[in-house]
Order: sequence, then C-alpha cells, then structure tokens
Amino acid sequence: MITIAVANQKGGVGKTTSAINLATALAAIGHRVLLIDLDPQGNASTGLGIGRNQRALSSYEVLIGRATVAEAVIGTCVPGLEIVPATVDLSGAEIELVEFEARTHRLRHALARAGDRWDIALVDCPPSLGLLTINAMVAADSLLVPLQCEFFALEGLSQLLSTVERIRSRFNPGLAILGVALTMYDRRNRLTDQVASDVRAVLGKAVFETVIPRNVRLSEAPSHGLPALIYDHRCSGSEAYMALARELIVRLPGRGAKAA
Ligand code: ATP
Ligand code: MG
Repeated sequence: MITIAVANQKGGVGKTTSAINLATALAAIGHRVLLIDLDPQGNASTGLGIGRNQRALSSYEVLIGRATVAEAVIGTCVPGLEIVPATVDLSGAEIELVEFEARTHRLRHALARAGDRWDIALVDCPPSLGLLTINAMVAADSLLVPLQCEFFALEGLSQLLSTVERIRSRFNPGLAILGVALTMYDRRNRLTDQVASDVRAVLGKAVFETVIPRNVRLSEAPSHGLPALIYDHRCSGSEAYMALARELIVRLPGRGAKAA
C-alpha cells in the first residue's frame, strides 16, 4: 500500500476537496483506496455522506489504539473507496497522545497492520503542523500539497518544507514530495495566473501540470454528501481531478504502468 498525506497547514486551500476527489478518481481507475480523515472537522467524512451516527469508530480510536483500521473503516457510495471517518474527539488526540509511546508513529503502525486490503491510502490532514499532521507525514510515502492560487500562496510553504525535512531526518527518510497541486485557479483573474507562474518558477517540476479550476460544483458537492466526480462528473473540477489523478499515478514509485 502506498500512503499519500494531503497536507498544508494553511486553512481552506483545498486539502479535503482534493483528498475526496482524488480518492474517488483513483478508485474509478481501479485502485482499492482507503481515505483516512485525520481532521477533527471531519469534512472528508461529511463530504462523502458519512453521518455522525456512522462514526462510532473513527481515526481517533485508531490513533489511540482502541480500534484497528479494519474495524474503523466504512464503505462509501464510491465502489472501491472506503474511509476511516473523523469526529471532534480527534481534537483531543493532539494532547492525549503526548502521553503515549511512539506518539508520532501511531498512524504508521496502524496502517502497517492493515495488510494489503488497499492499494493506496490518502490521509486528509488538518490545517496545522501538529501531532496529527506529523503522524500523517511519518506514515506517508509521499506528500501532496494543495496550494491555493492567491497572493500569499507561497507564504508558509517554507515552514511546511522544513517540517518535512525534520520528519525525514528523524523518522521517515523516504518521505517524498509527490507534488504541489494548484487549486482554485481562476482563468479570468490575472492575479491567479501570475501566482501560478510564480509558484512554477520557484517550485519547478514539483508542481503538477494539472491545475484545479475554481468551480462551484466542487464546493456544492459536499453538501450533497457526494464527491464532485459523482455529483457532476463532467464539470471542469471533476475533469481536472481525473487528470490530476492520472498525473499523480505516474509519479508514484512502481505505479507508472498501471496508469496507462
Ligand atoms: P481546511 O484547512 O479547513 O481543512 P481545506 O484545505 O481542506 O480546508 P477545502 O475544505 O477542500 O480546504 O476547501 C475550502 C473551501 O473551498 C470549501 O468550501 C470547498 O468547497 C471550497 N473549494 C475547494 N476547492 C475549490 C475549487 N477548486 N473551486 C471552488 N471551491 C473550492
Ligand atoms: Mg480540510
């Protein structure tokens, strides 16, 4: 199983939208996908139509060792996509886990015990660089960083990258940056165009070719409990996430062949 953390400590940059729709796109291509909602807001769970009453076991129980991934996982409306949901309990985990041994490796160990039921795991991180995101980075093979096309897009990125460096040197030397995905791109706005080319100038090939447009269907879909790819698979946002998934697959180690 390949694990991808979707992370950026900036809020509202498109982490959850990307996690839900990439997970759906990857499942549609034929991969067995596990989505782990690691954000106390639980937006990935809600966006996939998982009601509060279905979250008896969640990523919180997995982190504190009260449940295995296999026990906490539930099916979604997308064939081939399962999710470990999140609840607000997770907001206490950052503090509770401090007392635990191997507190940075809780998710890694839980996923290691999950076996080969899934090909790809995506972890939707909260907007912080706290212990939850660190658990995701320690567990991950690679990192996907959504970056919103706005004036301060690059601000905070150096902090994110130095966290990645720290995780690499202390816990997870293999942690790769899979890529930076530009989100909420507005073709009619010259500023976002400028931001996109600035980001490419600084980050080069790390930036995916595919750009996710600002698309109202992407923001409507979660209120219906559906991935945009199912809510309206022909909207520009859905098409972009399909393209991003194909581009992403090629970048995964040993996965290129399956993308063809
Ligand atoms: P948080 O940091 O709070 O977890 P996030 O990084 O997960 O936020 P999202 O929840 O994916 O970001 O997106 C923030 C808001 O922007 C949501 O209301 C979402 O529906 C909307 N949104 C995300 N991507 C797009 C897009 N490409 N076009 C239009 N709206 C979008
Ligand atoms: Mg989110």
